[in-house]
Amino acid sequence: MKKTLIVATRNAHKVQEIAAMLPAEYEVHSLADYPDAPEVEETADTFAGNAALKACGISALLPGMVLADDSGLCVDALGGAPGVMSARYAGEHGNDAANNARLLKELAALAPPYTARFMCCMCVAEGGRVLAEFTGKVEGTITLTPAGEHGFGYDPVFVPAGHDCTMAQLPAERKNSISHRADALQQFLNWTRK
Ligand code: IMP
Repeated sequence: MKKTLIVATRNAHKVQEIAAMLPAEYEVHSLADYPDAPEVEETADTFAGNAALKACGISALLPGMVLADDSGLCVDALGGAPGVMSARYAGEHGNDAANNARLLKELAALAPPYTARFMCCMCVAEGGRVLAEFTGKVEGTITLTPAGEHGFGYDPVFVPAGHDCTMAQLPAERKNSISHRADALQQFLNWTRK
């Protein structure tokens, strides 16, 4: 029998990556399948806090296990920014081009290297209560020369450690084997098998 998992997001890229990484026994739903589900405000100042808000908020309204992913890019030279503001760094939520442009403008005024990491906090909840939380990350550096067409968000400017290309230049399967999201999701799978 299939295991149903509701991913508490309307970000199609996140859902696609999570669904591709989960074993075939999972049937993944997202908030696109529940148009009446409310938008949960991300008012916490940590990834973990926002993941818990989303997982608890949605699981209080929908039956079954809900997984929320709160993620973003943390750049050392910017004191950890964009951080929890990653999706709206340039103001408008989800404007990847504007977010990247702001990031590169700020970094161009500073001396390299621009060490950074993608962070992903996942929270699993049911009936409005947290069941488990996981944190994944991938280290790397920011390049001032964006490249690549795959992925989303800051992928074109992020060079994963040990690579000489950006995350956006890697095929989806390769990104899904090294990403912050893969790291957190693997911990989730280990937890479900305990
Ligand atoms: P959230 O929806 O509040 O978790 O914000 C996620 C934001 O972080 C996205 O809009 C992207 O800007 C960034 N982000 C998260 N994961 C990734 C990734 O895998 N690649 C590139 N950017 C990401």
